[in-house]
Amino acid sequence: MKVGDKVKMSHPGKRDGAVGTIVKLGVPLDSHSCNPCKCGAQINIEGEDWSIHKNFISPVMTTFRSCEFIESINIDVLGNKIESVFVPKPTSVFGGWARHQWLKRYFKKECSITSPGFWKVLIERHGKPKTLIEEDGVFRVKENEE
Ligand SMILES: [Zn+2]
Repeated sequence: MKVGDKVKMSHPGKRDGAVGTIVKLGVPLDSHSCNPCKCGAQINIEGEDWSIHKNFISPVMTTFRSCEFIESINIDVLGNKIESVFVPKPTSVFGGWARHQWLKRYFKKECSITSPGFWKVLIERHGKPKTLIEEDGVFRVKENEE
């Protein structure tokens, strides 16, 4: 756990089940007697500050979604640049309509789902695909690793 992580409280009576963000770690607690005490974490829950023993907080699963893609730029007969984004056929539970909407949120346009055969052809033409990653609503693109 580190500062900025989202955690869930599990201490009866003390915002049990509430989710907060770690503001500071290694905070002294006066509820027990280690010396010097650094067992506490300072958590912010909806604007309220809480200091609590680290044993009473646990990491909250964050959203993590990813998808490989290949971008290709073509020039049509009129000289217009046409950018296309290709994605492979979905293989996991994160596929279909949900993935389609998710990709559109990032690329701001429709992506083409390719057959496994065409995907291979694209890799031969354009190199290894890049990966679009979303973690807790933040998008980033991982470059291909040769
Ligand atoms: Zn302590």
